[in-house]
Amino acid sequence: QSRELAQVHTDYHAALRALVEDGTRMVCTGRMHTDRICRFESLCYSTEAEEFIYFHSNSSVMLPNLGSRRFQPALLDLSAVEDHNTQYFNFVELPAAALKFMPKPVFVPDVALIINRFNPDNLMHVFHDDLLPIYYTMEQFSDLDVEARLFFMEGWSEGVHFDLYKLLSNKQPLLREQLKTLGRLLCFTKSYVGLSKITTWYQYGFVQPQGPKANILVSGNEIRQFTKSMMQKLNVSLEESSSEEYIVVFSRTINRLILNEAELILALAQEFQMKTITVSLEEHSFSDIVRLISNASMLVSMHGAQLVMSLFLPRGATVVELFPYAINPDHYTPYKTLATLPGMELQYIAWQNTDREDTVTYPDRPWDQGGIAHLDKAEQERIMKSTEVPRHLCCRNPEGGAPPPPPCRNPEWLFRAYQDTKVNIPSLIRVIRQTVKSKPRPKKQTWSGSLYPGKVRDAKCQAFVQGTSEAKLAVSWQIPWNLKYLKVREVTYEVWIQEQGENTYMPYILSHQNHTFSENIKPFTVYLVWIRCIFNKNLLGPFADVLLCST
Ligand code: UDP
Repeated sequence: QSRELAQVHTDYHAALRALVEDGTRMVCTGRMHTDRICRFESLCYSTEAEEFIYFHSNSSVMLPNLGSRRFQPALLDLSAVEDHNTQYFNFVELPAAALKFMPKPVFVPDVALIINRFNPDNLMHVFHDDLLPIYYTMEQFSDLDVEARLFFMEGWSEGVHFDLYKLLSNKQPLLREQLKTLGRLLCFTKSYVGLSKITTWYQYGFVQPQGPKANILVSGNEIRQFTKSMMQKLNVSLEESSSEEYIVVFSRTINRLILNEAELILALAQEFQMKTITVSLEEHSFSDIVRLISNASMLVSMHGAQLVMSLFLPRGATVVELFPYAINPDHYTPYKTLATLPGMELQYIAWQNTDREDTVTYPDRPWDQGGIAHLDKAEQERIMKSTEVPRHLCCRNPEGGAPPPPPCRNPEWLFRAYQDTKVNIPSLIRVIRQTVKSKPRPKKQTWSGSLYPGKVRDAKCQAFVQGTSEAKLAVSWQIPWNLKYLKVREVTYEVWIQEQGENTYMPYILSHQNHTFSENIKPFTVYLVWIRCIFNKNLLGPFADVLLCST
């Protein structure tokens, strides 16, 4: 790689002259550091100082030009985890003339995407914080194509899932450590810095206890476009008519074990009359797991990062998440949120062990594997007695510095999260049966996106006054323009009639394109009439321009 990159730019002197004369040019999208992505020409990086450098010259551009607000707290987030103080990006500034006194720059010819991975050893983080955001950041900017190169600046080594990152472009991603081997001063000809957060659905609890993001902007469709592309690159084909239906138990082999896994598998096979197989990250290749999961009818697993693989389940499949004792399923919902994203079309079921007899705890393990022996006796006792881990934050590293890998540093949570569980089979089957009545099976691959109506058209009103106290308002309109191209099961219209100057209105749901209103209609009054179309009861269209009607 180093040879490939250090290879003299087709015209090194021209590139150097351009850098000295034009300096760095930056134009960003986004209004805040949390939603900003910047495109640079001639952004440089000193591998000795481990700092990015912006060179000022007569032609340099810096938009937004924030002044010192660039440090409050940062220009942008380098990872898809929002506003995490270990993930901030900034640069230092120099006049381009300083280049005379600096090491000879090495130019990076590839279009670069410069980012931080958040926690590359944890599969949930790999998909949610890195792979999906990288994929859709690349979709957003057309010069980030398959020939672009990823630069991971968080400082970690490759990690166990590096092969997945390699699928995103044809060029080998480079790590911060490797940049040193390329030169002392690197200059990226064209680069993008930062990641789109538009696909993320979960916040890990750094400022408030963990839970779904407040404003989720992704649907199952975009998730499935991503998984389709990953499967193509992994050479896993979607078997349209899979011959046999089966259940996958995704097991963990190091901790948070299912102690009676054999019994569980037999019980599932018997109850649902289906082949039941186990997979684990330790014993199967990633593509084998994807191949198996992408045709499964049901995925059963302990709570944990491996459950992010439900990304690959076919529509209509069921996800069963098992929670250890004292861990409230409602407080840890990354996989529930994923499975229930609109358009994901998965059934989600949570089961919790509520029987203390069925849990095996490890108080004497190291603290990061859930041990609590380092705590004082009273605290240990309180934790042992507690029947539910209280909601908690996922603490930041108090010293700052290197990114703290989750797991969250809460001893009670870790203690309970790393218990082993003997699954109470009848209780689990009962919970699954409440949702899965017949045989679970994946749905046929049909597009079932829901479409919204457009505005109703040509709305008109006509008033009829009868004497001094009675009046009627006849309102009519035309169907939304897109309706004539659609097959919609049920089309209704919602009409609001509001007396001018009043805060309240009368709502009506109507099935025809005209109606004469007489209730509460007064003569010599101005009414505002709002009309919108509704498909299938819940797909609400936009209101047409308000109609002014005088009686
Ligand atoms: N992991 C695994 N088997 C195990 C324990 C962990 O495959 O027995 C994987 C897990 O899926 C995740 C990573 O190792 O990708 C880190 O696991 P950890 O328990 O720290 O995180 P969690 O699963 O609770 O998010």
